Amino acid sequence: MLDSLTQRLSKVVKTITGQARITESNTQEMLREVRIALLEADVAIPVVRDLIKRIKEKALGEEVVGSLTPGQALVGIVHKELTEVIGGSDTPQQRELNLATQPPAVLLLAGLQGAGKTTTAGKLGRWLVKEKKKKVLAVSTDVYRPAAIEQLKTVSAQADIDFFPSQPNEKPLDIAERALDYAKRHFYDVLIVDTAGRLAIDEQMMNEVSELEKNLHPIETLFVVDAMVGQDAINTAKAFGEKLPLTGIILTKVDGDSRGGAALSVRFVTGKPIKFIGVGEKLTGFQRFEPEAMAGRILG
Ligand code: GDP
Repeated sequence: MLDSLTQRLSKVVKTITGQARITESNTQEMLREVRIALLEADVAIPVVRDLIKRIKEKALGEEVVGSLTPGQALVGIVHKELTEVIGGSDTPQQRELNLATQPPAVLLLAGLQGAGKTTTAGKLGRWLVKEKKKKVLAVSTDVYRPAAIEQLKTVSAQADIDFFPSQPNEKPLDIAERALDYAKRHFYDVLIVDTAGRLAIDEQMMNEVSELEKNLHPIETLFVVDAMVGQDAINTAKAFGEKLPLTGIILTKVDGDSRGGAALSVRFVTGKPIKFIGVGEKLTGFQRFEPEAMAGRILG
């Protein structure tokens, strides 16, 4: 098990107790520990660099109040900066799922294969039914993997949402447009569009999802990303963020071993709010994103 940042810093702090201020010299060593802890939490290197700079600026000369040691004060600063970078400055409205459009509101899910898109389609659908009392239709445009279409059908039944069948010999855009037309005629509030993913980013996949976005005019284009991917999250997020006008992020598998550093990288790169997190394989494992809690998890 990795040492948490708090444990790391308390070791350093033992050598500098009695000092009343955070100074250039006692900060050096502590910042090195912060840097290691962030890297161990899988925060991408450019993001770590930026954070260290921000933390240093905030920390230097900070008065250490009351009984707090410089180490504890620094942990407080790190926590605050992390929360900020991860979306602490977003308003609850910015993190809210946007449905403010003429129904059906189209929600497009994009991401790599295995990121958890299909599971998330079910989770999101269930959440919309239970929490928002919406009438929801789901469709898969993954014509490359018939099993993925079947999976969405199963998940939709579990989530109590309707499923629009698609045929693997159709074009993704044709499927989605037929589903949208059906959703309009049958007065659905929301259409969730699950898209095909690849194991790595490729041009065809990106063009396909971009074409879907341009034609369906989704109110939300959500990037679904696995919290366990660590350092790779930054490249994937960059590629999706450049190709699609993303409106938000859903971070999956936050229940796993990872410290959640990917959250920080993805938010940093795309500048888009993380709206929900997936915390388990079951459809109930779905929560709104709380920046402060995630910062605490990254710090360990
Ligand atoms: P897709 O290829 O992007 O559609 O991904 P899937 O929805 O098929 O998910 C891939 C795997 O990740 C499946 O085994 C899911 O059960 C699992 N999965 C999805 N979301 C979560 C989550 O939040 N936590 C955990 N532990 N597993 C998840």
